[in-house]
Amino acid sequence: MIGHRIDRRETARTAQRRLRGRSPTIRRFERASVARSAPKTTPPAATPFWREKGLDAMTPEEWESLCDGCGRCCLLKLEDDDTGEIHHTDVACTLFDAHACRCGDYSRRQARVPDCVRLTPEAVRSLSWLPPTCAYRLVEEGRDLPWWHPLVSGTRRTVHEAGISVRGRVSGTEEEFTTDELLDRIVAWPAEDPDHD
Ligand code: SF4
Ligand code: SF4
Repeated sequence: MIGHRIDRRETARTAQRRLRGRSPTIRRFERASVARSAPKTTPPAATPFWREKGLDAMTPEEWESLCDGCGRCCLLKLEDDDTGEIHHTDVACTLFDAHACRCGDYSRRQARVPDCVRLTPEAVRSLSWLPPTCAYRLVEEGRDLPWWHPLVSGTRRTVHEAGISVRGRVSGTEEEFTTDELLDRIVAWPAEDPDHD
């Protein structure tokens, strides 16, 4: 277990060395939002909707409630132009409110951050970088939600208490770093699941 963590940190350092001196593409991605209308059905209370339905069948309300508010998808990623490999950083999008752990202007995010990607069921299936803890990814993989998810625990506090959210771990927002400085901010933890690493 410990060896695995050391390996992941080593991977981050190796990526920093390899990318330094080049110009990796900087990419930013958004958090969850509803992208299409879905049938409005109410599942039986005894069966939580995320166990009963696939992503495509969820109502807009169910879709939105699935987001745990971890903020990991609002961290900048660097894409290696040569290999296509994605590296996570601990630098947040310019609109991210690190204290509240959410987008600072969610309703106008796409006007203010045009390359913010809209998360849809199709996107969940195609994006390789979604955190292993992301509820959309878990449901798509046929897995249950963990104990700390707000839909299970009944409170958003557990996302922070379990070490899933980015609260307290963001080094700053993107305008505070040059591309070279971003290389020093490559970290492994946004791609880790504390319950399984
Ligand atoms: S615009 Fe908002 S939702 Fe999109 S990445 Fe930035 S902080 Fe996250
Ligand atoms: S990574 Fe976290 S904040 Fe982003 S969509 Fe998934 S659950 Fe929501």
